[in-house]
Amino acid sequence: MSELSERFEPATPEAPESSGKLRCDACPVMCYIAEGRTGACDRYGNFGNRIVRCDPLVILEHRLEAGDPLVEFHKEGDAWDGNPVTPARRFVTGIGAGTTYPDYKPAPFIVSQEVEGVDLVTVVTEGIFSYCGVKVKIDTDRHLGPETATVRAAGEPVGHVTTAEYGSQMLSLGGVRHLTGGSKSEGRVTCDTLLALCNRQPVELEIEGGSRVVVQAGAAPVIDGRVEHRMRVGCGSATIGMFATQWKDLVDEVVVVDDHITGVVSEHQAGKVIGWADTGIKIVGRRSTPGRYFKVSEPGLGWGGTTISDPLEILGPWNAKKGARPGLSLLMVSTTGEQFGYYELDDELRPVARPFPDRLRKSVDLIEENCEPALCTVLFMGGAGGSLRAGVTENPVNLTRSVQRLQTYVTCGGAPAYVWPGGGITLMVDVARLPEKAFGYVPTPALVAPIEFTMRREHYEALGGHVGAIRSVDDVLAAGGEYFNDRLAATAPPRNPWPPLQQLGRENAR
Ligand code: SF4
Repeated sequence: MSELSERFEPATPEAPESSGKLRCDACPVMCYIAEGRTGACDRYGNFGNRIVRCDPLVILEHRLEAGDPLVEFHKEGDAWDGNPVTPARRFVTGIGAGTTYPDYKPAPFIVSQEVEGVDLVTVVTEGIFSYCGVKVKIDTDRHLGPETATVRAAGEPVGHVTTAEYGSQMLSLGGVRHLTGGSKSEGRVTCDTLLALCNRQPVELEIEGGSRVVVQAGAAPVIDGRVEHRMRVGCGSATIGMFATQWKDLVDEVVVVDDHITGVVSEHQAGKVIGWADTGIKIVGRRSTPGRYFKVSEPGLGWGGTTISDPLEILGPWNAKKGARPGLSLLMVSTTGEQFGYYELDDELRPVARPFPDRLRKSVDLIEENCEPALCTVLFMGGAGGSLRAGVTENPVNLTRSVQRLQTYVTCGGAPAYVWPGGGITLMVDVARLPEKAFGYVPTPALVAPIEFTMRREHYEALGGHVGAIRSVDDVLAAGGEYFNDRLAATAPPRNPWPPLQQLGRENAR
């Protein structure tokens, strides 16, 4: 992780007249920057006695559909060469665009282009998100820590464990309370953590009363030093449902051990409908419905997200009156198929471990084969506030209404964003769909994220947009913007649709 605390130098209150420094006004920190140096966020510098945005403006080329080869992102010397003629469909992103702080001027780039007969306008900026955070989905059955437990990075609280989802543990990190509501150190570490996660770098997190986890968007989680490989095929009950027919006539009983719902095939509806015989098994746990048991153990790092390493711990005495008999065979397996064991009842109806029979190998392999790779997913979540909206229109609420009416399509670095219903423009975007290094920060502290609003020109005019500031893509490519940075051509990541005619009502647009 970078050292925000070392880089952050608050601006002096008075202009140092004779210092030769220039003042950057791109965020509330208002750094004075000496010639050849950069400001506290490293995004702006004083070069040639002018404030320059240090990173290039990224322009995506949607060439995959045409079968063109990929070009490397951020390849040295790959800056725009001034040639406006290219057959690719281009999209000017907010990456490197600069900001509009303190909200009195149009967005850095307002770009128009005609695509398939539709005149589109895209308003492009880098938003400073004081209200922001990430939602982290960690594909694992393992218990990482209790719900609401504090999550720490570098010893500082940066978020908490939130409700688990199907096959995944979830963290909610960042947010304005950690960024600005705690100590300075907490805010800086939170900002640093969010920045690293959004830029797809690994971050080590410690969960109070739980595990240490290394999280990186698009990579497998590392839990207490162990790489997680598989996301479970389903809960214990679902696994029984999916594979009951595969086990029929090969084994007398199957138990799928799961912290959430442990499944027992002889009692489960899936077993009943194919004529599975009773076995007299007894599960230690809270019976929900036939063949489905809650709380067979406490949550942990063992089989199926339980604490247990010996699955026999969840079995009570076998009942001969209900079908138990010496020699009865039993398969116990976890929800990922990674742990399994085979047992037979002895003369006193006690399960005894036996060598795993080949006849069951295929079914256990099938469970494992049906598991997806365990990954970490990071969604950036933020609220587009005054600065962003004022850069689009003189009447900011009109933008909010336009987004809510689905007349304005919101992207972050070209990646489609999900906008929450209700008030405001609260969005979520998968950081894996943005180009690399798309996020920045300012030491207020807050994250800086690219954001683009695309709409049909008539809608932009109707919402009171800064029509006089509209430029063509070619003009942006050739002349750049007010921060004198290079333009960089990059291949659009796959799966990011452009143009968004379907989303903007293609039929009506003509
Ligand atoms: S922190 Fe960055 S954006 Fe803010 S004033 Fe300093 S150089 Fe400019």
